[in-house]
Amino acid sequence: MTLLKYLRACAICHNYLPPCDWLCSFCWKCVEREYLYSEDCYRLEKQIPYLRLIDWHEDNHLLIQYLIQSLKGGGPEFIFKRFALEMFSRILPLGLWDKNTFPLFLPVPPKNPKDKEHAFSLAKALNFYFAGELTQVLQRKISSSFQKIKNKRERAKINIIKTRADFSSSKPIILVDDVLTTGSTAKACWRALNQPKNFFVFSLVWKKPKQGNRKLNFL
Ligand SMILES: [Zn+2]
Repeated sequence: MTLLKYLRACAICHNYLPPCDWLCSFCWKCVEREYLYSEDCYRLEKQIPYLRLIDWHEDNHLLIQYLIQSLKGGGPEFIFKRFALEMFSRILPLGLWDKNTFPLFLPVPPKNPKDKEHAFSLAKALNFYFAGELTQVLQRKISSSFQKIKNKRERAKINIIKTRADFSSSKPIILVDDVLTTGSTAKACWRALNQPKNFFVFSLVWKKPKQGNRKLNFL
């Protein structure tokens, strides 16, 4: 079974050159070139600190698109662990919280409950390295018209609720998503948690919204 995982085509270029560790060595090099330096992983926007491993922009658009699509098809656990380790090694030196406190990882609830939970897989992998606690206290209230909602103003109204009304934490709370675009989902989660102070958003990729062209925010 272990060997079978490696007998597959590269998830990006589809070249069949086993053994292949999800991507072929050439595609891994291309992806690794996109990893941000530790000091560039952090950005503060409207009081919320966002941390990501890769910026998704025009120059690497196709590469990252294929990577994300391959994960949406159901990436195995080891791929999330690989990314989580890269994130860990960059984020830890930033000293975001006291080293004696252990953070709480909260995956963003999936848009569709039937979807494979990539945010959960990434949160689990990050939790492994940061030695924190993984919990799921957020849920999406899905209206029948939700799938049709595309524009930013409507998306900002995303209804996220706490599943445990008494939930609160003095630990750093880390919201985890695979791809972050406008941040409206993250903001909705922050509000649902009663706007905690020690709140961070970790994502694998930040898809920079192209100014004046909202159509690019398709994820
Ligand atoms: Zn490849």
